Amino acid sequence: MYEGPVQDLIDELGRLPGVGPKSAQRIAFHLLAAEPADIARLQDALQKVKEGVVFCDICGNVSEQQTCRICRDARRDPASVCVVEEPKDVLAIERTREFKGRYHVLGGALDPLSGIGPDQLRIRELLGRIGSQDVTEVILATDPNTEGEATATYLIRLLKDFPGLTVTRLASGLPMGGDLEFADELTLTRALSGRRTV
Ligand SMILES: [Zn+2]
Repeated sequence: MYEGPVQDLIDELGRLPGVGPKSAQRIAFHLLAAEPADIARLQDALQKVKEGVVFCDICGNVSEQQTCRICRDARRDPASVCVVEEPKDVLAIERTREFKGRYHVLGGALDPLSGIGPDQLRIRELLGRIGSQDVTEVILATDPNTEGEATATYLIRLLKDFPGLTVTRLASGLPMGGDLEFADELTLTRALSGRRTV
């Protein structure tokens, strides 16, 4: 334990996902030694992320405007909607340059033990989109882990009710138990092009 502000900083950093106690300590001491200008930039970025970023009205992706860049892009096929858990998964799929449709960000995955049920996710919004627009394919690209699979299974059941809608799931080959964002581009490209109807 350190005294005062240093320990506070280590504690706060340690709350971030993927940052263990050792990394938190390393980052804290890095920041202590950093130039004031660097700290000011970081401060600025942290502040702006809460003030300047909103979630897209349509897809739920992070956006600088009411509607995100992808939803505004007329070249993106509105008939094909790729459903992901988090905005970072949109980035992962965009990196493959394989997908030309639109996205729908759920905001997580079903996880009853953590109190995340269908109402905590943007599932109603998804059904609304499919019902009111000419969506012909929904690609389920939830994470290849227990929660992601459970979410996909749940959605498949709901989406069965839409006539003329094809529901596909990313092909296997993604490392099980992992996060979509950690899959390399080639694996993700293959999973996307080899998607199967469910
Ligand atoms: Zn959007």
